[in-house]
Amino acid sequence: MKPASRAVHAGRDLGARSPLAPDLSTAAVHVFTDLEDYDAVVRGERPGHYYGRNSNSNRDMLERAVAELEGADAGVATASGMAALHAAILALAPKPVTIVATRELYGGTAALLRQDFEPLGYEAQFVDLTDLDAVRRAVQGAGLVIAETITNPLCSVCDLEAIAAMTRERGVPFLVDNTFATPLLCRPLELGAAVVMHSATKYLGGHSDLVAGVIVGDAATMGRARARSSRTGTPLGPFDAWLALRGLRTLDVRMRRHSDNSLALAHAMRSMPGVAKVHHPLLDDSPSFPVAHRLLPGGAGGMMAFDLEGGREAVQRMIKRFGLVTFAASLGGVETTVSYPEITSHRSFSAEERAELGVGAGTVRVSVGIEDPADIVADFAQALAR
Ligand code: PLP
Repeated sequence: MKPASRAVHAGRDLGARSPLAPDLSTAAVHVFTDLEDYDAVVRGERPGHYYGRNSNSNRDMLERAVAELEGADAGVATASGMAALHAAILALAPKPVTIVATRELYGGTAALLRQDFEPLGYEAQFVDLTDLDAVRRAVQGAGLVIAETITNPLCSVCDLEAIAAMTRERGVPFLVDNTFATPLLCRPLELGAAVVMHSATKYLGGHSDLVAGVIVGDAATMGRARARSSRTGTPLGPFDAWLALRGLRTLDVRMRRHSDNSLALAHAMRSMPGVAKVHHPLLDDSPSFPVAHRLLPGGAGGMMAFDLEGGREAVQRMIKRFGLVTFAASLGGVETTVSYPEITSHRSFSAEERAELGVGAGTVRVSVGIEDPADIVADFAQALAR
C-alpha cells in the first residue's frame, strides 16, 4: 500500500463482522479464568491484554499504525510527546553519555536534556546539524544524536541521510523527532535513523484535541521502551489513542493541504508590510532549500515562521487584529494558529541563546491550517496592514 492508503487502513485487522471503526476499550483490567492463560498473555506468548498500563487495544492499534507508516517493526504510544522522547532516550542511551542535539530544537526537549538528563550525568551538546563538518566532529564523542526533521521554530532542515551515515559508521544511535514532517512527508528510518518520535498532539492527531506521543523503531529497542514506559507509568490512555488513530486516517489529505497553504502564505508574506524575513524550508532563498527539496519532495507541512519589525509590540498588535487566526502555544491542528517562541516553545532558552538561534522579539511561528488559503493570507494581510 502507498502511504496515503496506509494512513487510512494501518493498525487494523478487519475480519467478518469486525466493527469498521474501532470500538473504544476503556477497561483498566481484563479477567482470566485460567492462571496458565494469564501467564501466557503476560509473557506475550498469547495475544490479549491484562492490565491497562501494560497494553490496551486502542493504544495497540495506534502503535501498529504509526509503526507501519514509518516503516518500523513496532511502536510505543505514550501520554505525551515528552514522555515519548524520554522513553526513546533511555531506550537508546540507558547510561550517561554525551547527547548531541540539534541547536535549534523544541525548547521542551532542550529543557528535558538540561534539567533532567544532565543532573544524571548525561552531557547535552547543542550543535548546528546543518553544518555537516560540525556534526562529524560532534559524533566522535557522542552516545546519542537527536535531530528534528524540520526544526522548531525556524523550520530548517538538516541532511538526515548524511547524519545517519555518520552515526551508523560510529555505532551511535540516531533519534529523529519527526513531529513537523509526519511519515507522509518524510520517513527518517528509511534514511538510516534508529528511532523516530512524534508529538502525536500535533499533526498525527491533527485536531488540537488530545495530548499524546509515539516512538517507533526496531523490536528490541521498542521492547525496552515499552517495559520502561509501563514501569514508569507513562502509557497513553485509550480515548486519546482512539482519537489519535481517528486523526491519522486523514493525515495524507491534511498534510497536502497544510503544505500547499504554508507555501502560499510564505510567498504572500514576503511582500507584507513589516515582515523582515520569512522562514520556510521550501522558499527558494532558504538555506535549507536544497536539502528540503530532496528530503521533502511531497511538501514541508504547515509550519513556517517570520520576523516582524517592531518586536513584541508589533506582534501583540497583529494578534489583536486577527479574525480567523488565533494565538495558541501548540501546532499541527486544522486551524491556523501563531505562537510566539519567546514566551511559548522557547521560554526555557535565555535571551542570548534565542538571539544566537535567530529567534528574536519579532519572531512568530505559524502553524498554517487547512482553511482556504485566500482567507489565511487575507487575515495576515489585514492584521499587518500599516
Ligand atoms: N517535539 C516537538 C517538535 C514539539 O513541538 C513538541 C511540543 O510542542 C514536543 C516534541 C513535545 O510534545 P508534547 O507537547 O506532546 O509533549
